[in-house]
Amino acid sequence: MLYYELGDVVTLKKGHPCGENKWEIVRKGADIKLKCLGCERMIWMGRMDFEKRVRKIKEGDKFVSIVHHHQPEE
Ligand SMILES: [Zn+2]
Repeated sequence: MLYYELGDVVTLKKGHPCGENKWEIVRKGADIKLKCLGCERMIWMGRMDFEKRVRKIKEGDKFVSIVHHHQPEE
């Protein structure tokens, strides 16, 4: 199961037509809302679709594969 939170920045299999491929997660649930950090457009996609398309997630100042990203231990 993939771990991601509101405010996380991710990359997808395919970037936005504006040329950017960095997206901020602005809504979570059955549908995920993403904001393109290139042009600030919002897109919605189903959670299953999102989890198929997402590739990397920002950890600190670098991007790591989302399958290696886990909830921080308390
Ligand atoms: Zn864009």
